Amino acid sequence: MKFNQHVCNLPTYEVGKPLEDVVHGDSVSYNQVIKLGSNENPFGVSPFAKHAIIENASLASVYPDDSYFELKEVLSKKYSVESGNVIVGSGSDQIIELCIHAVCNSESKILTSKTTFAMYEIYAQHVNANVIKTDDFLHNLDSMLKLYKKYKPDIIFLCTPNNPLGEALKKDDVIRFLNALDDDCLVVLDCAYMEYCAYKDDEYLISPIDVLQFSNVIYLGTFSKLYGLGGMRVGYGIANKYIIDTINKLRPPFNVTHISSKAAIAGLNDSDFIALSLKNNFDEMERYNKFALDKSLKILESYANFVTFLLHNQLNSTKIVNYLLQQGIIVRDLKSYGLNAIRITIGIASQNEIVIKHMSDAIDNI
Ligand SMILES: *Cc1c(COP(=O)(O)O)cnc(C)c1O
Repeated sequence: MKFNQHVCNLPTYEVGKPLEDVVHGDSVSYNQVIKLGSNENPFGVSPFAKHAIIENASLASVYPDDSYFELKEVLSKKYSVESGNVIVGSGSDQIIELCIHAVCNSESKILTSKTTFAMYEIYAQHVNANVIKTDDFLHNLDSMLKLYKKYKPDIIFLCTPNNPLGEALKKDDVIRFLNALDDDCLVVLDCAYMEYCAYKDDEYLISPIDVLQFSNVIYLGTFSKLYGLGGMRVGYGIANKYIIDTINKLRPPFNVTHISSKAAIAGLNDSDFIALSLKNNFDEMERYNKFALDKSLKILESYANFVTFLLHNQLNSTKIVNYLLQQGIIVRDLKSYGLNAIRITIGIASQNEIVIKHMSDAIDNI
């Protein structure tokens, strides 16, 4: 039995902790756990989506429509593009994977920001491609352009707003950057949190239609964050037909379940849920900003549904995260990103109060 050596060498991705890790015996029950480690919607499933899931339960016995006609129709209307410009994935994660598989081999280079979504590098390692990163902490398009000119990467990933740091790129800056590239470099614009930054400041709003004019750009969106459907695994990519048709050849058939696509369609129409989620996010973010100020902690300005605390040397992110875990609170230690930092998804008011209380205790006592 002989595996590819580069596959044997792959690290295992550290996902946000599942509920099961925290529920021990009877001391902490499922609904007491405060799960703010994976940027899920703290209000749970959109009620419209939940209704659709129940209504469509009987579809579980049949294969979905592999053309995803209905879901693509709805997405193409929402974004004023054509159905042929859309591909759906089992989460937008899967589209990232398809893009890398369509473009890269062991000779290829991918370019990313230094601290960004871990999956770009992981999928690149699947095909043994080389990863080049900027030196800057936050996305810096000037540095990226320099590295682009020097290394001529095959793919560039831009994550805006960026997970796990929360910064975002202005639309005008992104367009200027795209204009400076040759069209043989695929640019993946990962917009998993775009709805949040668009709500905060419309200078940061990038829509698929803004980048469709570029023959080498694909826009990614997801139902996992704002729409509260992380467990249903629905994401999408929008690009010109040539990109979509090509990566579609690598898409496994029936990659999104029937019920998931029904839930996604319903979730898109749930405007009350969307409005509530966005308002809560930025209202409650202030609570964390104030806490950081009170405790002299460094917090990054966030355009997404989480905040990131950068800790000074006297504090240890892992210790604090483990302390919170014992209290039934899941947040994300950024140690695996090489940072002494903690990322916390913005919860609902009652959750954030508890998190801040325990985090304050942790800081004072450990
Ligand atoms: C959550 C996330 C995704 C995709 O999640 P899916 O559940 O696979 O749709 C993609 N990119 C970033 C930056 C994310 O944080």
